[in-house]
Amino acid sequence: MKQLPAATVRLLSSSQIITSVVSVVKELIENSLDAGATSIDVKLENYGFDKIEVRDNGEGIKADDAPVMAMKYYTSKISSHEDLENLTTYGFRGEALGSICCVAEVLITTRTAADNFSTQYVLDGSGHIISQKPSHLGQGTTVTALRLFKNLPVRKQFYSTAKKCKEEIKKIQDLLINYGILKPDVRIVFVHNKVSIIVLSTGFFWYMI
Ligand code: ADP
Ligand code: MG
Repeated sequence: MKQLPAATVRLLSSSQIITSVVSVVKELIENSLDAGATSIDVKLENYGFDKIEVRDNGEGIKADDAPVMAMKYYTSKISSHEDLENLTTYGFRGEALGSICCVAEVLITTRTAADNFSTQYVLDGSGHIISQKPSHLGQGTTVTALRLFKNLPVRKQFYSTAKKCKEEIKKIQDLLINYGILKPDVRIVFVHNKVSIIVLSTGFFWYMI
């Protein structure tokens, strides 16, 4: 019997949390809602396998927190198990961003109210910052996940039929409509391959196609 390498353990545990394009969108939307966003844009390319991008106008991530934002079990939402009694956020495990980094290439661009400009961070597979540069976005956070599951060929095969892909888009649409109903004051826009699919705001939604 042999012990698995740390990178393999990380990949296996991440693929339990991030099992599909829908699960990435769900985690990122919940982070945006936790950050107090009133506007969220979800953009996918090639059913999310080439690119998933979630942009919000929430509170942003402080430069001091950036080095640990995608490290597993780092969270700004609770500090001990006692806080679990009065949870007011969707997230609290500090696992989502780290897990997404394991199965995709992740860029995070963020700016808080106190920052003069936004910063784009490029992360590696274990959630460490590889590089950073100033960028031009307003307050809030944009998470971009590229080439999802590139290191898990079997999973990519599973989603290779057009029917499965369409079902995934439908699931994302249903998920966003549910958040739209839960949070009628939040504007949510969903775009796939540059075509708007739904726009939700103030309790109404419009199907664009
Ligand atoms: P959790 O949501 O369980 O805390 P995540 O891995 O999803 O864990 O996120 C880690 C941390 O990164 C969060 O606790 C939060 O501080 C920060 N974060 C992630 N996404 C956003 C966002 N869209 N806006 C502001 N902060 C964010
Ligand atoms: Mg989260």
